[in-house]
Amino acid sequence: MEVNKLGDLQTLVSLSKRRGFVFQSSEVYGGLNSCWDYGPLGVAMKLNVKKAWWKAMTRRRDIEGLDAAILMHPTVWKASGHIDNFTDPLVDCKKCKSRFRADHLDPSKPVCLNCGSEELTDPRSFNLMFKTHMGPVEDEGAVVYLRPETAQGIFVNFENVMTSMRKKLPFGIAQIGKSFRNEITPGNFVFRTREFEQMEMQYFVKPGEDDSYFDQWKETRWNFYLSLGIDPDNLRFHPHGPDELAHYAKAAEDVQYKFPMGWQELEGVHNRTDFDLSQHQKFSGKKLEYFDEVAKEKFVPYVIETAVGCDRLFLTLLCDAYREEVSVDDKGKEDKRIVLGLHPSIAPVKAAILPLSKKPELQEPASKLFADLSDDLDIQYDESQSIGKRYRRQDEIGTPLCITYDFDSLEDKQVTIRHRDSMKQDRVAIDQVKNYINDSFKNYGE
Ligand code: ATP
Repeated sequence: MEVNKLGDLQTLVSLSKRRGFVFQSSEVYGGLNSCWDYGPLGVAMKLNVKKAWWKAMTRRRDIEGLDAAILMHPTVWKASGHIDNFTDPLVDCKKCKSRFRADHLDPSKPVCLNCGSEELTDPRSFNLMFKTHMGPVEDEGAVVYLRPETAQGIFVNFENVMTSMRKKLPFGIAQIGKSFRNEITPGNFVFRTREFEQMEMQYFVKPGEDDSYFDQWKETRWNFYLSLGIDPDNLRFHPHGPDELAHYAKAAEDVQYKFPMGWQELEGVHNRTDFDLSQHQKFSGKKLEYFDEVAKEKFVPYVIETAVGCDRLFLTLLCDAYREEVSVDDKGKEDKRIVLGLHPSIAPVKAAILPLSKKPELQEPASKLFADLSDDLDIQYDESQSIGKRYRRQDEIGTPLCITYDFDSLEDKQVTIRHRDSMKQDRVAIDQVKNYINDSFKNYGE
């Protein structure tokens, strides 16, 4: 048997539409460029991605959660540097009118990525923040921005969280939420979009201890990706050189993933120093300091940030999970099994109940099993077409287990459970199915 991994993103775009993961936004109107809607399986899987992150980040004593508003006081963006610095260098091709980020072009020989022309405009700065107006009057005084990152909601709530939760350093604040960036060149499916979700955590530490926490967080985040089953050969760290570092950062390393279009950033781990808290202190006039009771000293904490896009991690997990198993039977006929080898914690459907026939005597007990299991798990019920076709449909959406209820089940009170990856089948007593599922998820990958 030959196993092929994902060759191009288009394969995933088609699978996502065919199977209800992701649809083009406003498709009936011809779509809106680089905006995507998550379908029934997409929203279930995305929730699982968020749950995995939230669990890893907040089920510990030193990190608290937050859900700040998308619209914030406009001075936040002055203080953070976004109004002055959150720009990309934009160039236009004079020939075909395509637009690019100058930093995406080859610096030694910049040419249009669309038509190859060397006739490009000089780069000019383009602010990536979406502007809108608050209230009925569209004057300059009413301008607000859609947040371009979730981090600032955390910085301005540093004092609130620390006081209400009686936190001592080091401690962190974690948040999941939408961010908006008017990207010059969005694309590659949900890799880069103008509206996306971020999962960010800011960890507040004593200055001087920042380097060691930076290293710890790099390791923790790396292990998180391994725990989701991502192939370590497709992951690497990319340290930022001095010319890549953001204006606020002392150190930054990206976790990169080997996407079909090459190595690209999945997550950023940044040492933001005391930049953000100091800036908010300066612009708001409010103290954002920590008092160290042991050393009897006051200081503005340093921040280690981990920032990953939820949509980008969703895409990463799909890319990593996709495989085609190609085999040839005795008669020389080729067969292709498409499998999403998703980790059970991420798979949108955990198990499918497949009654062997639509006869009521099977429908009724199979529906009962569905009702019993779906209290705790995302379960699908599928009774249309042959059992072979149903298995393949479940393989293609990454369902780890298929549970077949057949005519023997009526007598022996057992069902057949088939595993997605090995295709191994076990006969299991119906009252043991829950335990069987739990055990096989617990031992997944061993
Ligand atoms: P780039 O340089 O590629 O524009 P960035 O370095 O500015 O990205 P960060 O500000 O560090 O990105 O954002 C943190 C994370 O948020 C990124 O690692 C990525 O996973 C996600 N992200 C950023 N921009 C987008 C986007 N336009 N669409 C989807 N996810 C994004």
